[in-house]
Amino acid sequence: MNIREICKGADRIGISGHVRPDGDCVGSCLGLFLYLKKLFPKKEVKVFLEEPAHIFSCIKGFDNIVILGEETPAEAPFDVFFAMDSRMDRLGAAEALFKEAKKTVNIDHHISNARGCGDHNYIFPEASSTSELVYELVEEEMLDADIAAALYIGIVHDTGVFRYSCTAPKTLMAAAKLIGTGIDFPRLVEETFFEKTYVQNQIMGRALLESILIMDGRCVVSHIDKRTMDFYQVTSKDMEGIVSQIKLTKGTDCAVFMYEVKSLEYKVSLRTTEKVNAARVAELFGGGGHARAAGCMMNGTFHDVINNLTVHIEEQLEDGRA
Ligand code: 5GP
Ligand code: MN
Repeated sequence: MNIREICKGADRIGISGHVRPDGDCVGSCLGLFLYLKKLFPKKEVKVFLEEPAHIFSCIKGFDNIVILGEETPAEAPFDVFFAMDSRMDRLGAAEALFKEAKKTVNIDHHISNARGCGDHNYIFPEASSTSELVYELVEEEMLDADIAAALYIGIVHDTGVFRYSCTAPKTLMAAAKLIGTGIDFPRLVEETFFEKTYVQNQIMGRALLESILIMDGRCVVSHIDKRTMDFYQVTSKDMEGIVSQIKLTKGTDCAVFMYEVKSLEYKVSLRTTEKVNAARVAELFGGGGHARAAGCMMNGTFHDVINNLTVHIEEQLEDGRA
């Protein structure tokens, strides 16, 4: 796919990513934004995202993001619109902008979006991150430190700092080129990935303290309800990293963490070993993701949600054919 060719005749270009944007979503959207602005300084390029966590404000272009609410922003149809790190139905209020655009492009690495939803699709489920895919599409001589910082943050977040199995030799090759631009990568990793605010650590502590081992210790589950979130004054942006920490529990093949977004409505995160295909479980409930990390929204009490999920997790553990 050639981004320069696709956008050549366009005057107005839009970019968006999935709801509750994570590091890869923000990194890939802003990396693409910076690249397009460099390729075509005169064209209008707009990024639409739900409010990202403030940690990502170190990425150039962060202040240009148009923050999405419930309503679709009033915009004339875009000539080209990019859906990043997401399928169409996860774009939230930007979905209508994507649908109305004259030309659509989808860049993603989610197995649950294997076919792509654009006129042009660049979908590689085995890629570590959408940011790695954007790196592949950026012309080498156009890469600079600002674009590199955005993409490096995206890769770091989706690989858990190059620890997860999605990290491939070419991921590290891309990372090498990115740090070669001179970015202050230790600071970017520290400030966007590891550093936590006091309340973020407190809420993680609560989730760990209240985690329960089930299925003979092969699955660990935990949840935080809305009342507790309100008490600590945390939002969904503060919950990043909790499920990965819970998954470190020795002997487990599956970690489930959920927090209540509305009364009896939970955002569910799954992290698994090769014994359980997380995306397959999440897809049964309208969600998706990757083999080892996936998510979905579910209704009911904590116990309802766990009961509904564990049937399918147990089935895979018993079959041993994840
Ligand atoms: P997390 O658990 O960190 O929210 O997400 C893990 C992975 O699953 C990410 O790649 C994320 O994009 C994907 N994911 C999380 N929730 C959903 C969902 O509701 N629908 C889909 N399609 N993917 C999700
Ligand atoms: Mn991603």
